[in-house]
Amino acid sequence: MKSVNPFKGEVIKNYTEYTSEEVTSIISQVDKAFQQWKLTDFEQRAKLMKNLQALLIERKNELAVIMVAEMGKVRREAIGEIEKCATVCSFYADNAETFLKNEAIQTEASESYITYQPIGTVLAVMPWNFPFWQVFRFLAPALMAGNTGVLKHASNVPGCALAIEQLVRDAGFPDNVFRTLMIGSAMVKAVIENPLIKAVTLTGSNPAGKSVASIAGSVLKKSVLELGGSDPYLILEDADILKAASLCVTSRLINAGQSCIGAKRFIVADKIYDAFETEFVRLMSEATYGDPLDSATRIGPLARPNLRDELHQQVENSRKLGATVLLGGFIPEGKAAFYPPTVLTNVVPGMPAYHEELFGPVAVLFRFKTEEEAIRIANDTVFGLGAAVFTSDVKKGKSLAEKGLEAGCVYVNDFVKSNPRLPFGGIKESGYGRELSAVGIREFVNIKTILVK
Ligand code: NAP
Repeated sequence: MKSVNPFKGEVIKNYTEYTSEEVTSIISQVDKAFQQWKLTDFEQRAKLMKNLQALLIERKNELAVIMVAEMGKVRREAIGEIEKCATVCSFYADNAETFLKNEAIQTEASESYITYQPIGTVLAVMPWNFPFWQVFRFLAPALMAGNTGVLKHASNVPGCALAIEQLVRDAGFPDNVFRTLMIGSAMVKAVIENPLIKAVTLTGSNPAGKSVASIAGSVLKKSVLELGGSDPYLILEDADILKAASLCVTSRLINAGQSCIGAKRFIVADKIYDAFETEFVRLMSEATYGDPLDSATRIGPLARPNLRDELHQQVENSRKLGATVLLGGFIPEGKAAFYPPTVLTNVVPGMPAYHEELFGPVAVLFRFKTEEEAIRIANDTVFGLGAAVFTSDVKKGKSLAEKGLEAGCVYVNDFVKSNPRLPFGGIKESGYGRELSAVGIREFVNIKTILVK
């Protein structure tokens, strides 16, 4: 296992993977820690979670630099990501007890209620694109619920994986409440099948999700899946064109376009299409790519050269089938894994850019004449993660959001972002289960019924 700087094209460090004996031993230590951790009260857990929050803020600059080096995120966004991790720690420290307090239910018995109890050690299989945030939005609710966790992080961000383990230790959590397993994906099956692992959550691609879900299913363990997306944004004819274009470009370019909830398809009303396209292409063309440590850089390199090459192949194959490339669409010279902001039009069914997730700074523009057509294009995808509607008619926006768009969340007049207070997750092949909010912390607990005659 090694980390490679995608801007410099140089190896940062080599790491030795854990053997299966080491993994088994760590899992039993984590299970042992669970037997004590589950007995702690919310106050004790919250105190440690607040320590973790403080440490994240104290170390945000050094942690951000690890991310920048390992996966190319621009420093400004990396610092923002660490700050967001601190907010999720504080959110669950403040609210876990309320979210998990007993709930009385009236029955014919003298007393009946629900109590939420921890289930044990949960495996988190995580991606490289938000290498801290994805882990913290699992870790904070899991530990606050009284569970323990093991992390199998993406193989290209081992430095981030070890830094997270160290943070938990330094925050004063008991030994082995949270451990990182330095393993590749081939060992995930054995970890899920280990009887001491009680559930698994995976954030990543659809093939990984399908594999993990089927293994978990074969041993009857619960899974939560946060998978890919191809979020459609509808721009209706009464939208504020300049504002909509600006928010759409922001969403498309966050993390160099490597975000599951990045806007990927822009479905624009015929009447305003030309004006929107002009503004959209102008803003995309202004986005500079370069050194992720340089504050003037808008987007850094993609996380790995092979991911950049696969993205380019999707663009090329779509172009060969008749798509028009309005901007970008080439591999820049040099060692860095850059891909320029790219805009495609004339994309139709049968092209990769129509059906597949474009995990990089590539946008697809569609034109629609009727709202039915807009909804049809928006929902013509296997994914269902996020979506947005831009309109000055909020009533109409809400109606399309509630009843029209097939997605786990829809924003009206803004781009989709995760928020600790709101449930996050998808439908269709974007996965199942939810993270964040009260719903997220209840995914990995035993919802236990108690009845007293
Ligand atoms: P990925 O290749 O699926 O990897 C994600 C994690 O799964 C990594 O730890 C990876 O380990 C592991 N993995 C891969 N194949 C596996 C298998 N067959 N069995 C078990 N584990 C396996 O995804 P990625 O390229 O890192 O991340 C990008 C994808 O994640 C995109 O599709 C994106 O949309 C999605 N994503 C979704 C969300 C969400 O909340 N819905 C958030 C962020 C990203 P190795 O690195 O060792 O292969």
